Amino acid sequence: DKPRVTVLGLGAMGTALARTWLAAGHPVTVWNRTAARAEALAPEGADVAATAAEAVAAGGVVVTCLWDDASVGASLAGVDLRGRDLVDLTTGTPAQARERAAWARERGARFVSGGIMAVPPMVGVPEAGGYAFYGGSRAAFEAAEAVLSVPLGTRYVGEDAGFAALYDVALLSAMTGMLGGIAQAFALVRREDVPLEDFAGLLAEWLVAMSGNATATAERLTTGDYTSGVVSNLAMMVAGNATLRRTAEEQGVGSSLLDPYMDLMERRLAQGHGDEDGPTGVVDLLAAR
Ligand code: NDP
Repeated sequence: DKPRVTVLGLGAMGTALARTWLAAGHPVTVWNRTAARAEALAPEGADVAATAAEAVAAGGVVVTCLWDDASVGASLAGVDLRGRDLVDLTTGTPAQARERAAWARERGARFVSGGIMAVPPMVGVPEAGGYAFYGGSRAAFEAAEAVLSVPLGTRYVGEDAGFAALYDVALLSAMTGMLGGIAQAFALVRREDVPLEDFAGLLAEWLVAMSGNATATAERLTTGDYTSGVVSNLAMMVAGNATLRRTAEEQGVGSSLLDPYMDLMERRLAQGHGDEDGPTGVVDLLAAR
C-alpha cells in the first residue's frame, strides 16, 4: 500500500502536486482555506478535510504549499504537529525557513523545507525536468523521499532548512539577471529589420555557450586564484562595456539594466584587477568572505 500524503494549500501548485499523487495511487488528504478548491479533488479520490487540524491528523507526510510563510503559520496555528513530518513547499527566504524549522521542532514535528524549481505543468512530468530542493531533517527527508519524488525530482541540499530557499533564490536571482539581459538584447534589435525568431535562436545558443562561466567562476572562487588561465580578462571586458553603453545609446535604448553590474566591474578594475578572469572579482565586491 502506498503511503498517505496530506496536502495543505490547493492553489495552482498544490493542486498539481495532489493530482499527481492521486494519479499515482497514493491516498491523499487535502485541505484548502477556500473549501471549493479541496472539494474539486474529491472526484479524483482525495479525502477532503474540513480543517487543517483534521487534515494533519489523517496521517502521512504533511505537505504545505501555500502563498507565503505567514500563511503556513496561520494555517497550522494551534494544530497538533507532534510526531508529524512536515514538508513545506511554500517559497520563502532562508531565514523564514530556519525560523519555521525551529517553530516545527518546538511543536514536536520533523521539518523539511523545499524550493520548487518548476511550474505546475511540469509537475508529474519527469521528462520536463522539474525538481525541488530540500533542506532540513535528513531523517524526515529520507522517510518522505519515495513520496516526494512522485511529482518532482528531489535534490537534498543539507540539514540546514534555509539551504533549499537559498539555492532556489540563488538560481532565481541568476535567472533574473539573464531575463534582464534578454530584454536588453531584444530592445537593441527590435527597431531594425532583424527577424526576431531567428535572433532568438542565436540568443539562446549564446546564453547556453556562456553558461560554462558558472563552473569557471566556482573554480576561481574555490582556489582563490582569479588570474591563471584567463581567456577574457577584466580590462578587456570593461573596454567592451563602453561599446555596450554606446550601442545602447545609438539604438535609443537605455542601459540602466546593465549599468549597476558594469559599474561594479569598473570598480574592480580601478582597484587594479585588470588581469583577472572577467567579472569573478565582482563576487568579492558583492560579498566579502
Ligand atoms: P496560488 O496563488 O495558486 O495559491 C495560493 C494558495 O495559498 C491557495 O491555496 C490559497 O488559499 C493559499 N493561501 C493564501 N493565503 C493564505 C492564508 N493566509 N491562509 C491559508 N491559505 C492561504 O499559488 P501557487 O499554488 O502557484 O503557489 C503556492 C506556492 O508554490 C508559493 O509559495 C509559490 O511561490 C510556490 N511555487 C509556485 C510556482 C508556480 O509556478 N505556480 C513555481 C514554484 C513555486 P485560497 O484558495 O483559500 O486562496
